[in-house]
Amino acid sequence: MNSNPYSWIEESLETIHKAHWYRSVKTIQNRAGAMVELEGKSVINFASNDYLALAADERLINAAIEALLTYGTGSTGSRLLSGHREIHRELESKIASLKQTEDAMVFSSGYLANLGTMAALVGKRDLILGDQYNHSSLKNGAKLSGATVIDYLHCNTEDLNKKLSQYRLSYRRCLIVTDSVFSMDGDLCPLPEILDLAQEFNCMLLLDEAHATGVMGKTGAGCVEYFNCTGRELIQMGTLSKALGSLGGYVAASEKLIDFLRNRASSWIYTTALSPADTAAALAAIKIIENEPQRRQQLWKNTALLKKQLSGFNILPSLTPIICLGLDSPQQALELAKKLLEAGIFAPAIRPPTVPTSRLRFSVMATHQASHFQQLGDVLRG
Ligand code: PMP
Repeated sequence: MNSNPYSWIEESLETIHKAHWYRSVKTIQNRAGAMVELEGKSVINFASNDYLALAADERLINAAIEALLTYGTGSTGSRLLSGHREIHRELESKIASLKQTEDAMVFSSGYLANLGTMAALVGKRDLILGDQYNHSSLKNGAKLSGATVIDYLHCNTEDLNKKLSQYRLSYRRCLIVTDSVFSMDGDLCPLPEILDLAQEFNCMLLLDEAHATGVMGKTGAGCVEYFNCTGRELIQMGTLSKALGSLGGYVAASEKLIDFLRNRASSWIYTTALSPADTAAALAAIKIIENEPQRRQQLWKNTALLKKQLSGFNILPSLTPIICLGLDSPQQALELAKKLLEAGIFAPAIRPPTVPTSRLRFSVMATHQASHFQQLGDVLRG
């Protein structure tokens, strides 16, 4: 018998290397932005989720500093014990007003928001129907809940309808879960049709607005607003870490549902409250999103510029600032990412197992310049 119980790890790492699945971190050495210092080299940054360039905004930084000076670094406990501060509630009210829901609650990350919410809402006697390309946090939330989990084909309401007809009646509760913006493709779920099906089959709907909040819809409220579904009954979640430039997650829904989650979501009850600095930065971000629609308008202008530069290439269908260049293999994606990096352009290669097919992923920011897109187009054509 093998005497080292850890020897399999080295073998597994070798397998990961051989499959070109190995991942390592890259160090950014200065403030977040459309141009960053990446391991000693100044590069155009197409790898950031900071769509509105708020992560380095002086107003967020100053709000965080003020909260640090007022409250200190850590929140020192869970929300129900010593961790709750006035600014947590202020942020929650602001999220509820952006989303036009009765209430909201903030978690320490979007990932924890999904895990805690799903495990609280459904259990062994219940069914989860999820889009096959859902984010990892939704897939793991589904597992954690103990419910029966069935995937439906990506954005395919016919398949969802078929599966609901087939399975719904055999279960007590049913939760449909989907990303609104699919993070590795940039396409959108057919929200109005999914909401109709949820209503028809008496199902709850959890919508992941992580990449939509601050980006989609007239006021930046997300895809619910974009699809004119504001006010319809569903559960929205999202992150404070992308367009909002901070850290943390949220759930926005009816007052009763939020009250229930405060009593049942383990990943909220048994973890330390969001730090004062992150809370204050997210609050400042939502105020900017409300008052400066021009940032979002610039983001969309930039998205159109990028699409124009990439026309003629194999671009995956996208209605968002996430634009992917489809490639044939992980090696091709890695080689092209390397070539771009040598030319001063940072765009990550996204490969299996994260996605079914390899691609380069470009995320647009409001502060990218026309010359950045031109440079990218030149290198790709060169
Ligand atoms: N959902 C989606 C669709 C995401 O892309 C992410 C972040 N990658 C999350 C949830 C998790 O959010 P957070 O980073 O705040 O944990």
